[in-house]
Amino acid sequence: MCQPNERERAVTARIIDGKAIADEVQAEVAAEAAQLRERTGVIPHLVAILVGDDLASATYVRGKKRACEKAGLKSTVHTLPAATTEQELLTLVRQCNADPEVHGILVQLPLPKQIRTQHVLDAVSPLKDVDAFHPENVGRIVQGRPRFLPCTPHGILRLLSESKIETAGAEVVVLGRSEIVGKPMALLLMQKGAGADATVTVCHSRTRNLPEVTRRADILIAAIGSPKFVTAAMVKPGAVVIDVGINRVGDRLVGDVDFEAVRQVASAITPVPGGVGKMTIAMLLANTLKAAKLSVSVDKEA
Ligand code: NAP
Repeated sequence: MCQPNERERAVTARIIDGKAIADEVQAEVAAEAAQLRERTGVIPHLVAILVGDDLASATYVRGKKRACEKAGLKSTVHTLPAATTEQELLTLVRQCNADPEVHGILVQLPLPKQIRTQHVLDAVSPLKDVDAFHPENVGRIVQGRPRFLPCTPHGILRLLSESKIETAGAEVVVLGRSEIVGKPMALLLMQKGAGADATVTVCHSRTRNLPEVTRRADILIAAIGSPKFVTAAMVKPGAVVIDVGINRVGDRLVGDVDFEAVRQVASAITPVPGGVGKMTIAMLLANTLKAAKLSVSVDKEA
């Protein structure tokens, strides 16, 4: 949270460099993965399953594979045709669950219409659930004893802590209530303890007087999927603004925040690209490393 005198001044926001912080996380993962390999012979292995020919999904999966390899993690991509049945996909997931050399399983979303997403996500072993979508892992987050943290919200927590932005007692407004970003983000920030302890409000498409609510935020986190939706008038002077949105507009990627206008009002802001997206991938690697450590640990709760 910024200091009161910083709020009063007309400031141009500090840019939170997601790429630099993600590089640090990936370097930490690489060092720990090398130690694990030396100590146990285990190489953390992420399997990504891509169904269909969605271009954006294929790009994300390629990025994740590249990042794994750069950090010394093994990565396998299974690409299945768009007509794959739910049974066929479940069979592959179960094979990966049973394979001791696979530590993390990622099913790239969205899945084709004939497949029930929830069924497939529920079938991933909770010990290999590096996206933290399994009900057991979500339940553990709710209870404040997480095994894996969901990658995007976890990345945002790390961005905030590395940027020395205090969350304790802060008014945080999360714009969006998806299972993948908004809801877990709110849950993590409301937990007791360091890097959390925030007073959290969650907004969605039915929220009344949205700008009035967002203007209360010391930290505003936008995850709605609507280009440049958050205007300067929706932001309290001096607030920290975290932009999760990735929207393709023409040949450019644009966030959910009107970056140029909002940076004149905020004290700190993440850019798109170069902000949250990089952290999501870094945290996926961290979860794959954690899953590999769990596979050699007797304590599967930790
Ligand atoms: P989602 O599942 O589509 O959910 C969007 C949420 O925003 C919903 O809760 C919806 O409300 C709310 N919303 C939509 N329009 C609104 C409006 N006009 N006013 C208030 N609330 C509104 O989206 P998501 O998966 O969370 O993704 C959000 C954005 O983040 C997308 O651009 C996505 O590409 C991006 N994303 C980025 C990363 C990353 O790594 N940077 C990771 C994941 C997602 P209702 O619930 O009422 O419908």
